[in-house]
Amino acid sequence: MTRLPENKVSPRDSKLNGRHFECVIIGAGMAGLASGIRLALAGKESIILERHNASGGLNSFYSIDGHKYDVGLHALTNYVPKGTKGSPLTKLLRQLRIPYDALELSPQIHSKIHFPHCELNFNNDFSFFESQVAEQFPDEIDGFRRLVETIRNYDALILEAKLISTRATLIQYFNNCLLKSMLL
Ligand SMILES: Cc1cc2nc3c(=O)[nH]c(=O)nc-3n(C[C@H](O)[C@H](O)[C@H](O)COP(=O)(O)OP(=O)(O)OC[C@H]3O[C@@H](n4cnc5c(N)ncnc54)[C@H](O)[C@@H]3O)c2cc1C
Repeated sequence: MTRLPENKVSPRDSKLNGRHFECVIIGAGMAGLASGIRLALAGKESIILERHNASGGLNSFYSIDGHKYDVGLHALTNYVPKGTKGSPLTKLLRQLRIPYDALELSPQIHSKIHFPHCELNFNNDFSFFESQVAEQFPDEIDGFRRLVETIRNYDALILEAKLISTRATLIQYFNNCLLKSMLL
């Protein structure tokens, strides 16, 4: 990974010395690093350019008085037990050649979205979360199921897809402002 120079000199002037790369990845967050690993495994000569002095992006840390505070992700979305076939996690680990056991994963026991007068509990069983929405927001459960169906059928690999805001999407499915805020 190469840190971009502060004063925006061209790569030809910097320590890259005009070296040619087949792929340039902007940003060393999770997405950039995962892309870099995949491209390297595919034999592509690639470079990751990062404007900060550390990689990780949002999944990072800050230091105060010599102590490091981890502000990165604590839960891995789409957890499945070892050996589960065809899941996003299984595919990703295979593509990145990371052994399942290296992550030392364990299922989340209990998480919650906590607002002053309402909370939605969830764990790795999605039907439990659905039942929580049905219990707290009975008038919105049909919209919730339609949204889930839309997300499941969405093809995230369409390059021509236009950027749409999450907030604008939620408005199409829900009337209840509290639920919209809790899902954001
Ligand atoms: C407090 C917190 C808790 C979270 N908890 C979880 C969790 O429990 N589970 C979960 O799944 N997710 C969690 N997330 C979300 C997860 O961290 C992010 O979805 C993920 O890190 C995003 O990765 P990314 O590579 O897409 O983007 P980013 O992490 O934003 O990385 C983008 C990188 O690109 C760099 N960059 C941008 N523009 C340029 C440029 N022009 N030139 C050079 N470099 C550039 C940035 O400096 C950055 O390093 C959490 C996020 C936060 C903030």
